[in-house]
Amino acid sequence: MSISEDFTAFKGKIIAIDGPAGSGKSTTAKLLAQRLGFTYLDTGAMYRAVALAALKQGIAFSDSEKVAKIASQVHIEFAADKTRGQLTLLNGEDVSEAIRSPEATAGSSAVAVHPGVRREMVKRQMELGGKGNIVAEGRDTTSVVFPHANLKIYLVADLKTRAQRRYLEAIARGNQTTVEEQERLLEARDKNDTGRAASPLTQVPDAILVDTSGLTIEQQVDKIIALARQTFSARP
Ligand code: C5P
Repeated sequence: MSISEDFTAFKGKIIAIDGPAGSGKSTTAKLLAQRLGFTYLDTGAMYRAVALAALKQGIAFSDSEKVAKIASQVHIEFAADKTRGQLTLLNGEDVSEAIRSPEATAGSSAVAVHPGVRREMVKRQMELGGKGNIVAEGRDTTSVVFPHANLKIYLVADLKTRAQRRYLEAIARGNQTTVEEQERLLEARDKNDTGRAASPLTQVPDAILVDTSGLTIEQQVDKIIALARQTFSARP
């Protein structure tokens, strides 16, 4: 084993990554977790699952009471699949694709404004990740879910880069769209995520800013591993 792949210093650690949509959080966190042999906690998938459950039950995203009730009742699980990676299960059903639909995507940031929904999701996320060996990503994992995370990263990228990434993902899924439309959708979600009263997206003082514009996915992962090494050796 080469020195650079010796992850002994990482054992039991919590790595939390926050940032706006399209900044590369999911891809980076997923690969990072794979490299380290950690669990990947996709907190956004949980808000997406709540939005999908509301859609299925015909509940308006703005109905805070009903949506919070759904959030407290749904079973959300993650399961590993050899070919498809991590799956998201909603009440036992594989909804990995459905939660990425344009409706569930817009719905996720609409349901995430309700404090009752957030309380329930945060409680579950703390339970899932509290024991460490985890890479968590979302909007409040560095601030609310894991305020004592061993490494906090705030990932950003410029709007054009983020829109281009989302455009390519949408096209790959067979959704017709344009880069301009993705820019508008991202701006709307950014506004919701940073402007809401409950746990708005923000860079906490002890989070390290990483700009992924112009970086490849491999470079993003390498950069975070390098930052983790520095941080864990300074504060074991
Ligand atoms: O990260 P992803 O794009 O899958 O998240 C979907 C939505 O869920 C975000 O736009 C945000 O509104 C919400 N979210 C959140 N807090 C998190 C993760 C996601 O509010 N920790």
